[in-house]
Amino acid sequence: MIKRAQDSGWSTVPEDQYKNEPGTWMDVTRQVLFSSSNSAFETRYFNIAAGGYSSFERHQHEHCVIVLDGSGRVRLGNEWHEISARDVIHVEPGQPHQFLADSASSLGILCIVNRDRDRPELLGNDSPDRTS
Ligand code: MN
Repeated sequence: MIKRAQDSGWSTVPEDQYKNEPGTWMDVTRQVLFSSSNSAFETRYFNIAAGGYSSFERHQHEHCVIVLDGSGRVRLGNEWHEISARDVIHVEPGQPHQFLADSASSLGILCIVNRDRDRPELLGNDSPDRTS
């Protein structure tokens, strides 16, 4: 199958607005670009608005993440790394991780995961503004 891009994105794909929960995640939307019962993996696009962030979490499934737009930081364990378009990030099984958009730029990432996966464990109240 081919899902055509529209308007520099995928305007026909529903966008889930995550409920904002300060301390866990803020200003994140998700579009499921590919998911099929015939496939072992799924591909999602997350957009994190400027200043927003994903939850600090851990799970046994892996992520392969590719930055498509904008810039920000990723936390892997206790280390923060600057990231921008076309960077590729592998989150290993059990590795604590969190994505954060820059204050002046949104961060758009593709995330490939196993279709069958364990639920994330949220890691405390480790708000990103306490670690910078
Ligand atoms: Mn994750």
